[in-house]
Amino acid sequence: MTSAVIVGGGPNGLAAAALLARTGLEVTLLEAADEVGGGTRSHEAILPGLLHDHCSAIHPMAVTSPALRSLDLERHGLRWKSADIDCVHPLDDGSAGVLMRSVEDTARMLGADAGRYRALFETPVRHWDALAQDVMRPLLRIPTHPLLLARFGLPTPLPATALARLFRTPQAQALWAGVAAHAFRPLTHPFTSAIGLGILTAGHTAGWAVAEGGSQSIARSLENVLCEHGGTIHAGVSITRSSQIPPADVTLLDLDPGQIARIYGDRLPARVRSAYRHFRRGPGAFKVDLAVEGGVPWTNADARRSGTVHLGGPLADVARGERDVAAGRMPERPFVLVGQQYLADPSRSVGDVHPVWAYAHVPYGYDADATEAILRQFERFAPGVRERIVGRHVTRPADFAAANPNFVGGDIMTGAQTVPHLLLGPRAALDPYGTGLPGVFICSAATPPGPGAHGMCGAGAARSALRHLGIRQAV
Ligand SMILES: Cc1cc2nc3c(=O)[nH]c(=O)nc-3n(C[C@H](O)[C@H](O)[C@H](O)COP(=O)(O)OP(=O)(O)OC[C@H]3O[C@@H](n4cnc5c(N)ncnc54)[C@H](O)[C@@H]3O)c2cc1C
Repeated sequence: MTSAVIVGGGPNGLAAAALLARTGLEVTLLEAADEVGGGTRSHEAILPGLLHDHCSAIHPMAVTSPALRSLDLERHGLRWKSADIDCVHPLDDGSAGVLMRSVEDTARMLGADAGRYRALFETPVRHWDALAQDVMRPLLRIPTHPLLLARFGLPTPLPATALARLFRTPQAQALWAGVAAHAFRPLTHPFTSAIGLGILTAGHTAGWAVAEGGSQSIARSLENVLCEHGGTIHAGVSITRSSQIPPADVTLLDLDPGQIARIYGDRLPARVRSAYRHFRRGPGAFKVDLAVEGGVPWTNADARRSGTVHLGGPLADVARGERDVAAGRMPERPFVLVGQQYLADPSRSVGDVHPVWAYAHVPYGYDADATEAILRQFERFAPGVRERIVGRHVTRPADFAAANPNFVGGDIMTGAQTVPHLLLGPRAALDPYGTGLPGVFICSAATPPGPGAHGMCGAGAARSALRHLGIRQAV
């Protein structure tokens, strides 16, 4: 039987494993932590029963992911849930940019910018399922839907600050800036519109959903598919040398490129080793999970019904914060992403105590305490919140790296989202998943289409592995 070994059980390693097992390969997955999941794990870090997502929380890209959809995860226990409102970006005067599930409802909330918002998103949203086949893959390929891709791709090279000029109202500009900031890049840089446009288009198709029972449910359902097809998982196995990896027909590495350079050393072609060793990291994340009695008392009423709240104030503030973080300076007012997953999934709360998930963008390797800066951003838009906090759990950049060696320096995106990285992945090559070693592939979020719990990097690498084996089967 043809065999595959997968190293690393994040969503990409699990997706690759499940897809290969479904194709008939004998799959073994090795995971360093006590449980698989990587960035899709959840924990009760503050109170028993109060469930926080350790990393990923909000899943517009996973819900629409062609790979995850093809695995029929709902049949294996996954349930997507959505709050009434997808995302709110509050401003200091109590108003907010409000993102609803549909383009039309969002446009209506944006008043004077309604027409421009419709013009930007109506067509790509209508065709997202087709577009995803091109956008959620390596971009340097002959597209399946060239005209749709050209229409969608037209504004993507713009810096996010330039695209923001399309909007007139501070609410629409701020809402756009907050979503574009998911790229973790200075918003004045080219192509910083690309990730924001992708997230918004996918979100308008299927919502900013959360997984019932925590993001760990995504991992559990992938694990179920893998096991149903005879796959084996060994947890608690940390790979540091290639000699630890059992022989197999193909090996897929859900690892950061720097680790692969260390694990394979001189066995890698020199140019690949050099590219992997010099792989460029992005900024870090500093996370504060909160237990909040009665929920956060947001001044803006819509924020109290929204699954995600972006704390950054007006466009100029968000842009300044992202510029500082990229330059290695901690901003006084960092951009903070807040998740209120319990609104969609009440099973995560304990009585009237609710889990609130929040992280700030901080410089790469930041080693001071950002808790106060994060709480000040909360207090700015929700005065009195501190009196409601009954517990907190802090995860610093170094803690992220300790829990998962892929998050070097707290870089939760597995690499800086620069133009070469967005277009090529970790190195310039025809196959971004190839490592230069026959039968050995990289499948982590360092490869196209990049970070997120969508499993599409795993699917791309699985496709390359099957091509190497001469197996003609779509995954
Ligand atoms: C705070 C935070 C918030 C986020 N928010 C979102 C969000 O809302 N939505 C979203 O889509 N994405 C989000 N992300 C990003 C998302 O979690 C990642 O992009 C995604 O998990 C990457 O998946 P992966 O499979 O490539 O790698 P990972 O999830 O990093 O998994 C890699 C796995 O490999 C294991 N491993 C590493 N080294 C070794 C080794 N040497 N030997 C054996 N095993 C090893 C690790 O333990 C881990 O289980 C967030 C991440 C963080 C940290």
